[in-house]
Amino acid sequence: MEQGRTAPDNVRKGFMTEQESEVQEGYRMEFHIMTLFPEMLDTILGESITGRAQNAGHIRVKTWNIRDYAQNTYRHVDDYIYGGGPGMLMQCEPIDLCFEAVKKDLQERGIEQEPEVIYLSPRGRTFSQKIAEEFASEPERPLVLLCGHYEGIDERVLTLLNAKEMSIGDFVLTGGELGAAIIVDAVSRLIPGVLGDESSAVYESFHDDLLECPQYTRPEEYKGLKVPEVLLSGNHALIAKWRLEEAEKQTEQKRPDLYRIYRENHPVVEEKKKRRK
Ligand code: SAM
Repeated sequence: MEQGRTAPDNVRKGFMTEQESEVQEGYRMEFHIMTLFPEMLDTILGESITGRAQNAGHIRVKTWNIRDYAQNTYRHVDDYIYGGGPGMLMQCEPIDLCFEAVKKDLQERGIEQEPEVIYLSPRGRTFSQKIAEEFASEPERPLVLLCGHYEGIDERVLTLLNAKEMSIGDFVLTGGELGAAIIVDAVSRLIPGVLGDESSAVYESFHDDLLECPQYTRPEEYKGLKVPEVLLSGNHALIAKWRLEEAEKQTEQKRPDLYRIYRENHPVVEEKKKRRK
């Protein structure tokens, strides 16, 4: 996790290869996560591909502990809910002050783009690959992710921060941290340089509204199950055709809703229809 490090420091510490360091004029995309549990995110996002992407300077992930901005002796950040009801609600002030600190950090480093503020919330639009692609298409715009806890957050601070609500599914979690990690992970891998092979993201599920086709690795036969002959043929045109047809089949069977969208954009040509019969 980024802890006041800058990309040039990373180079000095030897985290990057010389080739990688050539792209390090600045980070390609920044994520700022406002949370009561920064260690959770430091741990998850400091590992594996997102960890390496940070070390290489492709992305900057900075966690901000909302509790650091509490103005009272006991560093309380929550209080009872007006009108009654169970549980506690996160208060406006610590979140508001924390966001001011994020903005100051961006300004001081010459980042002029207004950040996009996302509040992780079950009430929000459901996060998807399309939304990940939208965020990744504007990498110069920092993403600020606000994680709620307890019963959520005072509505007024969401208005003040102009926060958009985003859900990661129709269920209720104890906090927004796992959702924030999911968004950072899904967006980061679309940032050039983060995945080893740039074509990886293009051949995956949800690209072009299709699920991924079945894939195989060595050995050619396992417990009597063989790798489809065509994949061993070396005929790239035939392999591409097989992969597309298999991806279409998978999508039609497993996600008819997605397949309908795919077909609207890729109508079956008459010849193909005849061949299917
Ligand atoms: N009282 C809230 C409600 O009914 O909508 C739920 C609060 S939940 C226990 C605490 C926090 O977890 C929320 O403020 C939000 O940040 C996060 N959270 C819970 N479910 C989520 C979901 N499906 N997607 C994204 N964030 C979620």
